[in-house]
Amino acid sequence: MLQLVNVGHKSLADYATIATRGLMAEIRRLAEPLAGKRVVHLSATAFGGGVAEINYTLIPLMQDAGLEVEWRIIRGGEDFYNVTKLIHNALQGNPQGLDDEQREIFRRYQAENAAELEDIYDFVVVHDPQPVGMIEHFPESRAHWVWRGHIDFSAPNESVFDFVLPWIKRYDAAIFHMRDYVPRREGLPPCYIWPPAIDPLAPKNMALSSEDAAYIVDQFGIDVERPLLTQVSRFDPWKDPLGVIDAYRIVKNRFPEIQLALVGSMAHDDPEGWDYYNQTVEYAGGDPDVYILSNLNNVGSVEVNAFQVHSSAVLQKSIREGFGLTVTEALWKTRPTVAGRVGGIVAQIQDGETGWLVDSAAECAEACVEILRDPREARQRALYGKEFVRRNFLTPRLLRNWLVLFNQLLGNDTSGAEVAVVSAAS
Ligand code: UDP
Repeated sequence: MLQLVNVGHKSLADYATIATRGLMAEIRRLAEPLAGKRVVHLSATAFGGGVAEINYTLIPLMQDAGLEVEWRIIRGGEDFYNVTKLIHNALQGNPQGLDDEQREIFRRYQAENAAELEDIYDFVVVHDPQPVGMIEHFPESRAHWVWRGHIDFSAPNESVFDFVLPWIKRYDAAIFHMRDYVPRREGLPPCYIWPPAIDPLAPKNMALSSEDAAYIVDQFGIDVERPLLTQVSRFDPWKDPLGVIDAYRIVKNRFPEIQLALVGSMAHDDPEGWDYYNQTVEYAGGDPDVYILSNLNNVGSVEVNAFQVHSSAVLQKSIREGFGLTVTEALWKTRPTVAGRVGGIVAQIQDGETGWLVDSAAECAEACVEILRDPREARQRALYGKEFVRRNFLTPRLLRNWLVLFNQLLGNDTSGAEVAVVSAAS
């Protein structure tokens, strides 16, 4: 059996003050016909990255809504994760393809994991490409299978896309963060477009006073009297930590007192992570004002929260980005946020209104200088940003979307409950 993740307990009632009354009533109404339905979420890791972040909130809330929900982690050796990382990179546009042996490794692990999954569910939700092919081994399944893509598919390496597409076509529905990510190919299932969400009540996002935040970051050696820039993200070239260091260096010419924190956990399905971590440390060249921290330094959710709250600006200088929950988290904390003009980030930041979108280290530095020079104007943008997140990117909305989809797959009437759905080749 595939490993079960313990997600703890959450109560929908606690979200009543955050979501509108109409939304809470709609969630209850949509959940009613789904009572007792069995759902399994399958993903590659329970730790590190956006999928884990979302599931720890979504799953307990689905349970509280009355469904029977499990989250299971597929198994893989280093050989598998080397291949899945290649696939991840290729789907985000890296030209390197897969050779026959790598394709075979991927297929073998799909079969092995499928053999460990019982076909007892009403809904099987498969996250990202790592378990995408398990579906092939359940031709008689009575479950509805949904594939949820979390990465930036706007300009994929076509040969690798063609490798995974036949599996995606077998699903009953696919979900993408953005319309631009939907492949323009025939034969796809209905494709739903909805962004992920953050949990405003989780330790990562709960209200933290500036005093408490300063108290926490101080323990990592940060001088809390001097300004701080922070980027929170896995050590991954697409997150461009080296570009962040370049930007910081430019800012430092103007504001010598500036400090930089790069906070990045290591996901266990990411074999490149350590290499890239080491490269980042080397690139920082021993600068005492650059703090490179990870879960190995005990940076957990509350600490990430504190770094975000305490920062003069939060950066997410990505080159590709599925959605960028770190941007959502920063905006929710009313932080001036500077982020790459890519992927899901552009759905969150309206340049010049709710934050700053940048295309280079120089632009990133320029935005930071603006923020440090005029914190009042920066705060105004951040306030708009927070409001935008409140309306669009909090968990109750995400839960509602899932409930609509499950009802639609069962053929239940969902009139009045709209979710964006596009047919594939449109
Ligand atoms: N995260 C974290 N600690 C870290 C790095 C990342 O808790 O050291 C969290 C981060 O706060 C966010 C998620 O991991 O909630 C990353 O999601 P995002 O969509 O930004 O990127 P992904 O990792 O999925 O590409």
